[in-house]
Amino acid sequence: MKPTNSVLSSFGTTVFEVMSRLAIANESVNLGQGFPDGNGPDDVRAIAHDALDNSSNQYPPMMGVPELRQAVAVHDKRFYGIDADWQRETIVASGATEVLAAALFGLLDRGDEIIMFEPLYDSYIPIARLAGATVKLVRLQPPDWRVPLDDLAAAFGPKTKAILINSPLNPAGKVFTRAELETVAALVREHDCYAICDEVYEHIVFDDTPHIPLMTLPGMRDRCIRIGSSGKTFSLTGWKVGYGTASPEVMAPVAKAHQFLTFTTPPNLQHAVAYGLNKDDAYFATLSGDMQASRDRLAKGLTEIGFAVAPCKGTYFLNADFRPLGFNGTDEEFCRHITVEAGVTGVPVSAFYMGGDGPTHFARFCFCKEDATLDEALRRLKAHFG
Ligand code: PMP
Ligand code: GLN
Repeated sequence: MKPTNSVLSSFGTTVFEVMSRLAIANESVNLGQGFPDGNGPDDVRAIAHDALDNSSNQYPPMMGVPELRQAVAVHDKRFYGIDADWQRETIVASGATEVLAAALFGLLDRGDEIIMFEPLYDSYIPIARLAGATVKLVRLQPPDWRVPLDDLAAAFGPKTKAILINSPLNPAGKVFTRAELETVAALVREHDCYAICDEVYEHIVFDDTPHIPLMTLPGMRDRCIRIGSSGKTFSLTGWKVGYGTASPEVMAPVAKAHQFLTFTTPPNLQHAVAYGLNKDDAYFATLSGDMQASRDRLAKGLTEIGFAVAPCKGTYFLNADFRPLGFNGTDEEFCRHITVEAGVTGVPVSAFYMGGDGPTHFARFCFCKEDATLDEALRRLKAHFG
């Protein structure tokens, strides 16, 4: 038979799926794929139940139900001072993943270049390449994940159409500082490009580190699309309700792409997420506070076992250097080894370096878990490594 799409055939199954399958087969404690223990907030789920029976289950409007689009605009004003016209500047889609795909398809043309930071989330590169663009990677290295400013400036050129920036950054746990964002903004302005801002972990930041949307920097309001996810903000990863904010000029092509991807998203879930985004400040403070306590619990335990744990200012992932334990293989070998032999699963950080040749001595562990889950993982690792 004739070969199928050459971009997609060059990628394997995602590391999250591979490691979760291995975790199930070995009955291990799965700190690999990022999903919370528990079932999300009861009150948010209750709204979804109610809407299922008492609201329409037919196609909602393509751009999202008005309540959720209004809630996105109110949320952006409340947390960041962004003034957005919900009718022209917000969109709802099936997960941040779909907003990202719609943004890449909507903004990129064949022959364009897009800049991304490595390590990166796995959906970015395949979609950019399907859109016909060339990806220019700027590499951040553990354990400090500093932005190499010269490399960043050198990545921009006449063909640069956009930059994709993920802050807080999965898997690094890095939150871009205002100074770093100012550098990015200056380059975006100088080269007249767009910025796709994956901010799904916006409410999971620690130690009073502020999350600063690039969109709030001078000259950036009309060049950015800012993307959030109910999966992260309400610990409901299976719902796949994502949302975005952008100027009408940026939103128009994104909406066009969304129209041909999923077109719309389950209405009852949208009503529930609208309710969620309007929750009081205590909800958002508790989300980051609880997550910070879990970060500290896992970091302390891993450090006691002998891992060198990299700092984490946001997201729900810790990166641990396993060389001090005396393990001499790669991160892939390490993650398989601990799944099979210790009954704990992590994901290899090199999988997030899609340009190849990334660091191979870090495992990523997810801490959006109950204390008992984290303690059991630590107990097993301690028993194994002694
Ligand atoms: N971006 C990043 C950095 C993520 O970690 C995730 C989580 N899977 C997503 C996007 C996708 O979010 P969603 O599940 O809403 O599609
Ligand atoms: N965002 C999650 C992670 O980084 C997983 C997403 C997925 O499974 N596609 O672990």
